[in-house]
Amino acid sequence: LYTSGTTGAPKGVVRPTAGHLVALNWTMKNIYNVVPGDVFWAASDVGWVVGHSYICYAPLIHGNTTVVFEGKPVGTPDATTFWRVIAEHDVRSFFTAPTAFRAIKRQDSKGESIKNFDMSRLRALYLAGERADPDTIEWAQEVMGVPVYDHWWQTETGFTIAGNPAGIEAMPVKIGSPTVAMPGYDVQILDEGGHQMPVGELGAIAVKLPLPPGTLPTLWNASDRFIKSYLTTFPGYYETGDAGMIDEDGYLYIMARTDDVINVAGHRLSTGGMEEVLASHPDVAECAVIGVSDELKGQLPLGFLCLNDGCTRTAEQVVAEVITLVREKIGPVAAFKLACVVDRLPKTRSGKILRATMVSIADGKAYKAPATIDDPAVLDEVRLALQKLGYAQP
Ligand code: AMP
Repeated sequence: LYTSGTTGAPKGVVRPTAGHLVALNWTMKNIYNVVPGDVFWAASDVGWVVGHSYICYAPLIHGNTTVVFEGKPVGTPDATTFWRVIAEHDVRSFFTAPTAFRAIKRQDSKGESIKNFDMSRLRALYLAGERADPDTIEWAQEVMGVPVYDHWWQTETGFTIAGNPAGIEAMPVKIGSPTVAMPGYDVQILDEGGHQMPVGELGAIAVKLPLPPGTLPTLWNASDRFIKSYLTTFPGYYETGDAGMIDEDGYLYIMARTDDVINVAGHRLSTGGMEEVLASHPDVAECAVIGVSDELKGQLPLGFLCLNDGCTRTAEQVVAEVITLVREKIGPVAAFKLACVVDRLPKTRSGKILRATMVSIADGKAYKAPATIDDPAVLDEVRLALQKLGYAQP
C-alpha cells in the first residue's frame, strides 16, 4: 500500500496480513467504540490506508456494517452530504480527515444545515491524516454535538499510534493533541543526537523498536530504502518523520513533518503552531505555513490563507490581522510578516497539503510534483501568489 507521498516518490508499504487484522480488530471497540452490528463509516478514498484499513478490513473482521461512499463532502450537491449519510445509515462512529471539515465549514460557517438531519445516534467523530487544528475541532464539536477525537497514524503503521481509547474509557480531550500512545507503541521525542527531549519541547517523534503487530516489516522491493528511511537516523528506533512533543500528562502533540520545522534566526519553529494561529482568524477557512529561504534569518515563515465563502473583508485586511495575531500569540521571534490569500491549496488526493513542493516553488528550485497530487493547476496559482510577494522568481 503506497504512502500519500507529499515529498519525493511514494513508498510501497508491505503489510503483514495476520498482524494487521489482529491490530485492526482491537481498535474497533477500544478506539472507535463500536460493537459488532454497529454501523461504522470511514469517509476516505478506498485506495489509501484509511480506506483499506477502515472501509474494508477492520469493520468487516469485527462484524460491523461499513459504509462505502464515493464522493466529496461539499458540492454533492451541497455541504450536507456527511450529515445525510450519517442520518440515513444510522452511523455510530464516523472517521474522516480534518480537511473535509474545513471544506464544510468554509461553505456553512455556522453549521446551520446540520439541523435538518437526525444525528442523535452518532457517538463520536474521529479525525486523522493531518494536524487537526483547534479551530476545526471546536467547530465540529459544537456543530455535531459529539466528542471529536484526533488520532495520529501513518500508512506505515496501518492503525493508530496515538489516540484516545474511547471504548475502554475516554481520556479527557486536550485540543491539539491526539491523546496518548496506544498499546504496542513506545513513543519518544528525540533530539538530533537521539537523546530524549525534556517534557514539552519540540523534537523528532520516534518509536522504540519493536513495533507492534500490523506495522510495516519492510518496503516493497526496497529493503535498503526501508532501513535508510526509518531505522538509520535513530538506532533502535523507528523514525516517524513527524516532529512534536509530549506534555507532563503524557499527551502527544504532532506539530509538523520534521522537514516542515523551520529555523528562523536560530529558533526552531513548527509550522503547525503558526497554522493554528492563522486558522483561529474568523475569516480563514484553511491555511498553510511554509519556510522560505532568507539570506538574513536562514528561513522565514510564509502563510497561505483560503478565506471563508462570503467573506466581505479584503485580502489585505485579513493578511494584516493574521500577522498581528501571530506576533501576539507566538511572538516577534516567529518573524511572521509574509502572507497571501489563495483560492485553494495544493494537496494530495488524500487531502495532505504539499508544503515541500510549495517551498521549492518559493525558493525557485526545480521540483517534481508528486504523483499523488490532486490538481496540478493549483501549483501555478501558488506560484503567482508567491511572485506577488517577491518569491518564486524564475
Ligand atoms: P500517510 O501515511 O500518507 O497516511 O501520512 C501519515 C502522516 O500524516 C503522518 O506521518 C503525519 O505527518 C500526518 N498525520 C496523520 N494523522 C495525523 C494527526 N492526527 N495529526 C497530525 N498529523 C497527522
